[in-house]
Amino acid sequence: MKGVVVKSTGSWYLVRDEEGKLHRARLRGKFKIKGLKVSNPLAVGDRVEFEVETTGEDTAIIHHIVPRENYIIRQSTHKSAYSHIIAANLDQALLIVTLVSPRTSFGFIDRFLVTAEAYDIPATLIFNKTDLYDDDAMDYQRQISHMYGQIGYPSLAVSAKNNEGLDQVNALLHGKTTLLAGHSGVGKSSLINLLVPDLELKTSEISDFSDKGVHTTTFAEMFEIDSETFIIDTPGIKELGIVDIPAAELGHFFPEMRERLNQCRFNNCTHVNEPGCAIIAAVRSSEISLTRYESYLSMLHGGDNRK
Ligand code: GDP
Ligand code: ZN
Repeated sequence: MKGVVVKSTGSWYLVRDEEGKLHRARLRGKFKIKGLKVSNPLAVGDRVEFEVETTGEDTAIIHHIVPRENYIIRQSTHKSAYSHIIAANLDQALLIVTLVSPRTSFGFIDRFLVTAEAYDIPATLIFNKTDLYDDDAMDYQRQISHMYGQIGYPSLAVSAKNNEGLDQVNALLHGKTTLLAGHSGVGKSSLINLLVPDLELKTSEISDFSDKGVHTTTFAEMFEIDSETFIIDTPGIKELGIVDIPAAELGHFFPEMRERLNQCRFNNCTHVNEPGCAIIAAVRSSEISLTRYESYLSMLHGGDNRK
């Protein structure tokens, strides 16, 4: 049988078959990813082939993992230690942000977008809590959305509280597997509750399963909106693991810088104070947003990337 991993405890996996039925499964054999030491061979979103066991216990054995289209990992901070695969086979990522209570920082948004670029996963921003925005905040939100739109990141404005803008979110999700991310307090759970039909039922089904396993807090889980639409929630994961990006390459992960890099005088330009830098010129002429450039500098100097 074929299925998709919707939950993992590290040793047990919950697999959804093509009819939507859930199976508790284990992995047979050793699976390795070339060049990467990971603590978990299988992650949410993985497509697998499995067999239901005939022992009477309603369990299954996974014997094949379909090669991943992509995956995101959280990198260990220790050089020798193992990384953790958060999720696999994503079509896109949505970052939920808000301008109020609590305001999401540009630094957080831009680090997320750099990570999405690094994994080549299209990203969209969802501004939640618009019911709390006054006219100035609404204007500001439109300006920010315009700025991100110009560099290739669409955005939507919604209110989970007033159930506004949810149709557009649903249209964006339809037919895809989407990772949802956001700082705690932005309203991610509220949105998931509105988006996923019968969420309570599904959550209890999934937690029945989880209770069998070890701690599950850092593991992502997948929810079905309909048979071809899935969202992946990442509870407890504040930021996606930023991949190791050498300083000289960080600019490639900012689309508006990427398109100007060949105009810098030096090809190893880090766009800090080099003469003939096209990026600094574009920031001066407001063609590149100052907040984006500040995020770039803070990532460059922040130790999030290898020098
Ligand atoms: P999470 O931590 O991102 O999962 O956020 P929650 O969904 O738990 O929401 C955090 C708080 O924000 C709760 O008190 C929600 O009621 C509130 N909240 C969520 N969405 C909205 C919204 O659209 N408008 C307003 N005013 N409050 C919201
Ligand atoms: Zn430069």
